[in-house]
Amino acid sequence: MALSTNKVAKVFVHFVRNYSAETTKHYKVVVAGGGSGGLSIGARACRQFGVGNVAIIEPAKVHFYQPMWTLVGGGVKSFSQSGVPTQDILPRGCKPYNQYLQEFDPERNTVTLKNGEKLSYDYLVVALGIQINLNKVEGLEEALKHDKNVCTNYLSEYVVKTFPAIQDFRGGNAIFTFPNTPVKCAGAPQKIMYMAEDYWKKHGVKDKTKIFYNTSLGVIFGIPRYAASLMKVVERKGIILNKRQNLKAVDHAKKTATFDLLDSEKGETQTYHYDFLHVGPPQSGPDVLKNSSVPIVDETGFLDVDKNTCQHVKFPNIFGIGDCTNIPTAKTAAAVAACSGHLFRGIKDMEAGKKPSGTYNGYSSCPLITDYHHCILAEFAFDGQIYETFPLDQSKERRTMYHLKRDVMPQIYWHMFLKGYWNGPGTYRKIMHLGMCC
Ligand SMILES: Cc1cc2nc3c(=O)[nH]c(=O)nc-3n(C[C@H](O)[C@H](O)[C@H](O)COP(=O)(O)OP(=O)(O)OC[C@H]3O[C@@H](n4cnc5c(N)ncnc54)[C@H](O)[C@@H]3O)c2cc1C
Repeated sequence: MALSTNKVAKVFVHFVRNYSAETTKHYKVVVAGGGSGGLSIGARACRQFGVGNVAIIEPAKVHFYQPMWTLVGGGVKSFSQSGVPTQDILPRGCKPYNQYLQEFDPERNTVTLKNGEKLSYDYLVVALGIQINLNKVEGLEEALKHDKNVCTNYLSEYVVKTFPAIQDFRGGNAIFTFPNTPVKCAGAPQKIMYMAEDYWKKHGVKDKTKIFYNTSLGVIFGIPRYAASLMKVVERKGIILNKRQNLKAVDHAKKTATFDLLDSEKGETQTYHYDFLHVGPPQSGPDVLKNSSVPIVDETGFLDVDKNTCQHVKFPNIFGIGDCTNIPTAKTAAAVAACSGHLFRGIKDMEAGKKPSGTYNGYSSCPLITDYHHCILAEFAFDGQIYETFPLDQSKERRTMYHLKRDVMPQIYWHMFLKGYWNGPGTYRKIMHLGMCC
């Protein structure tokens, strides 16, 4: 009898240790966020550290290849082609947590999940992406829900509205917006505009249409070489470019969009009637990064990391990748790929008792689709330095680049990038330039 009580007690202790929400489970690497960056690093970590040593915290049931959403919005690809069940692409041997991360405690090397579970780590990789803030524009969420002429390629639930809205458009004012915040893929708000213009031209609607690009920026694109080419596209297509205008409110009952005129000293606004509205929504560092026992973000709300090694500036065993970091380059999947090798080398260096030796140069890229057959492939690094892969003038609109974007990049993403085998096109660039370039 005494023995069986002992056994019961042992089973109870085992249960409490392993299954209670209070138990802290330890991993060599915990990856917070299983999007593009999290899966790519998670795959490398699983190969390096073996089964059961890597946890990936990711609440989404479907993983989306977001760069495809421009093509979904343009009607070139179907929505279903852009996503796969997350569980099908998780790295083999990882321990998945289908949960939201809720709190960081970098001094104790732990994170807490929404269900109360705690995980501790040797290394934490933060890959939480950027947060979309629809609520920063008055009436936007209602308009997206209730007005078939209002859409955005930035969210899975609304990207499916874009192509039907383009097809449904019968002329009038078509407005495309770019917000006054950091964004992922700064080209996305204008790529869809160029595709829509092409569609409306082919379907005889263009003559009855005014197309507006209302951007909070003072330029069409941040890199002058590509901005010059894009300005020619804007002129050729007769697009009205309104700089320094930031979407403030949408009234879908009246079909109006109101913009702050950012250079107005009197705080003036301008209201437009719209018949079609594609919104580049306001974005920010994820709120959850602020739920930390000690600050891990900079003053802009993004994870504070070293731009070359991706290592946190205060906590050496924390690394950050992708859109949630303050690395000063364009927030793209291309940037995630290019820095992932440097980040992971840092973890291996630390395991060997050395300092991280990553030398990420800020490489990022943006395939700027200009119609249903052409694309300008912008490639650049920190401080706008040009890093073109092909030995030809990539600031020109080219059919080859369009096929690269539509047909080749998705294959690289699903089969190499997510498996942690793609560090960007650096090696190919060297080969194509016969070793005589960056
Ligand atoms: C319309 C559009 C077009 C684009 N076009 C291009 C392009 O042509 N080329 C290009 O390179 N890039 C493009 N991008 C950008 C690219 O998709 C992102 O830069 C890239 O996905 C960033 O990767 P990430 O890992 O930082 O973030 P994400 O891939 O967004 O992953 C973040 C993950 O964190 C998870 N998460 C969030 N909160 C929590 C939490 N509390 N706990 C746990 N997990 C959480 C999310 O569910 C998500 O899976 C485009 C994006 C959009 C929207």
